[in-house]
Amino acid sequence: MKVLFLQPNLADVRSADAMEPLVFAILKSLTPADVEVALRDERVEPIPDEESADLVAMTIQTFTARRAYQLAAQFRGRGIPVVAGGHHPTLLPEEVLRHVDAVVMGDAEGIWPQLLADARSGRLRRLYRGPQPPLTSGLIPDRTIFAGKKYLPIHPVQFGRGCRYACDFCSVHAFYGTSLRYRPVADLVAELAALSGRMVFLVDDNLFADPARARELLQAVAPLGLRWVCQASIDVAADASMLDLLSRSGCCCVLIGFESLRRGNLVQMGKAANLALPDYDSAVARIRRRGMMVYGTFVFGYDADDETVFAEAADFAIRNKLCLANFNPLVPIPGTPLFRRLAAEGRLLFPAWWLAPDYRYGMATFRPRSMTEAELTAGCFWARKRFNALGTIVRRALDRQANGHNLQQLALFLAANLTSRREIFRKQGLALGPDGGLCESP
Ligand code: SF4
Repeated sequence: MKVLFLQPNLADVRSADAMEPLVFAILKSLTPADVEVALRDERVEPIPDEESADLVAMTIQTFTARRAYQLAAQFRGRGIPVVAGGHHPTLLPEEVLRHVDAVVMGDAEGIWPQLLADARSGRLRRLYRGPQPPLTSGLIPDRTIFAGKKYLPIHPVQFGRGCRYACDFCSVHAFYGTSLRYRPVADLVAELAALSGRMVFLVDDNLFADPARARELLQAVAPLGLRWVCQASIDVAADASMLDLLSRSGCCCVLIGFESLRRGNLVQMGKAANLALPDYDSAVARIRRRGMMVYGTFVFGYDADDETVFAEAADFAIRNKLCLANFNPLVPIPGTPLFRRLAAEGRLLFPAWWLAPDYRYGMATFRPRSMTEAELTAGCFWARKRFNALGTIVRRALDRQANGHNLQQLALFLAANLTSRREIFRKQGLALGPDGGLCESP
């Protein structure tokens, strides 16, 4: 039996910023030795028309759903069954089941051996619900599946899943609720030791979700001499000893969801951590003072946002010398409270933007209250271009405190910025699915 793991892209195009899809390394480690396994990742390679398999297993995010359905149709047309998991199938199983043979809701690890046995005997069920017990101990993802593929030279590693906050737009919260589950620290240390000398991305949605657990991990990781990046809620900046420990343990960059500089928006989205620490400038300064870079994300389109908000956010990001920043239109992901609210208010521009042939990546998908949808689309793209202008990149690179802290950090900063700049222009205006085209170039 041969299983083909399939990672769809937004469209039939390649990306320069693709990271190893960790889920497939986890599933490979749970696959019996007599099952042949291969990975095709459309972000870094084309999917051959005649790729053979007895079962295709794909992961689907809302942005890749349209393309995933097209790929599923091709494989099913050749008689190969397709199973889909990930956030989108978990939050919208009825839609996904119209395009694939089976859906996995929730985490796949717990049901993967059973699903494989069902596929082998030709008795694949339509719906599998992954249990959410404590994360399996002793499980080390099998990264041999990534050999020879051109991913970013930064390796994703996961400690825990879930987040204690409940932001209304967040698919992590819609997927996991507020439950938190962790792998044993010893497993992480074993996995990280094998990656020694390489750059690591701790992909937990909020490493600071349980500060005691985070502290335990950081103390165990510090002797390994790693360099790594993580995501954390902004309240980490209020904890000086945690910041010291982060820096000592090898963290060189923290990704923080600032989301908005306007309090009314933070209240509306339920971003409790940010409401508790409203002085963003001081928070960034405390992190940068310890030699760590800050990567910020911002979202636009909540009710307090008018057309002046884009310059405000871009100015903040440049003034604080963020190493990278995302300026995104608010996107209602199905299954989230945000989606339900906008649908109830009759403000969605498409019933399902992710399937609409005339939706383009970067476009507004709903009617904002205090600006037009065209202003929302254009404002986000303008902020991205302003932050990623070459002169601005150079000025941020000259920051000796964090971005240019040492040669290694400077090299990371420049590589990340140039890749990000290229991808911004490549993706803006891209149609989801095979009709995709590029509408702007740098
Ligand atoms: S803090 Fe981040 S991960 Fe947690 S619910 Fe909010 S957006 Fe999601």
